[in-house]
Amino acid sequence: MTPEEFRSYGHQLIDWLADYHATLATRPVQAATEPGEIRAQLPAAPPEQPEPFAAVLADLDRVVLPGLSHWQHPRFFGYFPSNALLSGILGDIASTGLGVLGLSWQSSPAITEVEEAVLDWVRQMTGLSAAWSGVIQDTASTSTLVALITARERATGFALVHGGLQAETHPLTIYVSTQSHSSVDKAALLAGFGRDNIRLVPCDEDFAMRPDALAEMIAADLAAGLHPCAVVATTGTTATTAIDPIAPIAEVAARHGLWLHVDAAMAGSAMILPELRWMWDGIEAADSIVVNAHKWLGAPFDCSLYFVRDPEHLVRVMSTNPSYLQSSNDSKVRNLRDWGIPLGRRFRALKLWFLIREQGVTGLQARLRRDIANARALADEIAATPNWRVLADVVLQTICIRHEPPNLTGDALDAHTRAWAEAVNRSGEAYLTPAVINGQWMVRISIGAIATEAADVAALWTTIQRAAAATT
Ligand SMILES: *Cc1c(COP(=O)(O)O)cnc(C)c1O
Repeated sequence: MTPEEFRSYGHQLIDWLADYHATLATRPVQAATEPGEIRAQLPAAPPEQPEPFAAVLADLDRVVLPGLSHWQHPRFFGYFPSNALLSGILGDIASTGLGVLGLSWQSSPAITEVEEAVLDWVRQMTGLSAAWSGVIQDTASTSTLVALITARERATGFALVHGGLQAETHPLTIYVSTQSHSSVDKAALLAGFGRDNIRLVPCDEDFAMRPDALAEMIAADLAAGLHPCAVVATTGTTATTAIDPIAPIAEVAARHGLWLHVDAAMAGSAMILPELRWMWDGIEAADSIVVNAHKWLGAPFDCSLYFVRDPEHLVRVMSTNPSYLQSSNDSKVRNLRDWGIPLGRRFRALKLWFLIREQGVTGLQARLRRDIANARALADEIAATPNWRVLADVVLQTICIRHEPPNLTGDALDAHTRAWAEAVNRSGEAYLTPAVINGQWMVRISIGAIATEAADVAALWTTIQRAAAATT
């Protein structure tokens, strides 16, 4: 492909994407595709000869689109929002189009310096003090893995340069809540703590971690000769967006020298709203934080922001310094390969830089406030409707609900819940995720797609009521 052909096909592709976004509302939200259906339309072997590029683009419509559930759809209420602001999409295209790599500062200085500047903007936007330094990781899963590895190395006095965890005489323990994200569990396992040493701290009636229970578990482990290492608190849990009380948790952690990692993957975006900063009261006492800019904030996936108090410790754990990566500027610059696991670094900061400049802080704040208002209004309406229940406080933009017709309990109630949620998703009119809370199925409505307006939320409620009535 010549640059001139690229220009032509590039224009076509942007037009195609613009049309996609403009007409999203007319598509069913969930793909009505059977397993294997897409694969069956793809040749099993690669083309021997070049194909006309127009044929490749045409297959986006013919093969790919029917196999997509549309996350940017105005009636997407599943999981958590994974927004792709159009300005952020352009930033991602620019990054890919440049094809540059940040192996070190020297390998493309702007990659590092734009990232530093933009992360410092987000630090200010979320009300964090200047004591925090940020870096972009791919996902919260990786950010939390990095946090737990660095916690492990702090607790063991850099065991990795000697015998590693295998030489520890007192097993390290780690404390997460029953509502923690599955990625926390996975990170703890991958960081070598071992299932036996992961403690599930119980939650209160609002699904928030109990600091008293945390303190008791740590005391019991100390008495048993174990070595408490880290606690992971969550600002905005996955099931219900519950808020763990950071300040008292940090107090317990500090008393025993534990690392405190705060998983604010979802709710971190909301910290750009000063009226919600109570959610992470005490955050300055944490050691590390993850905020996914690729969720509600609107950076196209992937863009997970990892903030630390002590970058020197992070670098000491993560650094590698082979001769071919050294440069005469190393003492004056950050080499972000030493701030995480991968060596290569995409220019991810561009999409965040583009979108913050295009939206302004006030533009981002206004959209999040719109979503919160929509969530509260819908929660009030559901709570006021006979036989419907809102199961957890709506502190953010996620509503957990159940339809409880008289005389329906236990397994029968679960079957009903899953049936009406499935009916909503099958209808293509809206998309929701069912989940289990306190041993019983419920349905999460997660509001916050960029295109979602009050009318879409009203339409969702109509669809839900119709689906529930039809399956009763
Ligand atoms: C989404 C989410 C994660 C996982 O995020 P990835 O970036 O997909 O790894 C972890 N924790 C919480 C609280 C989340 O909301």
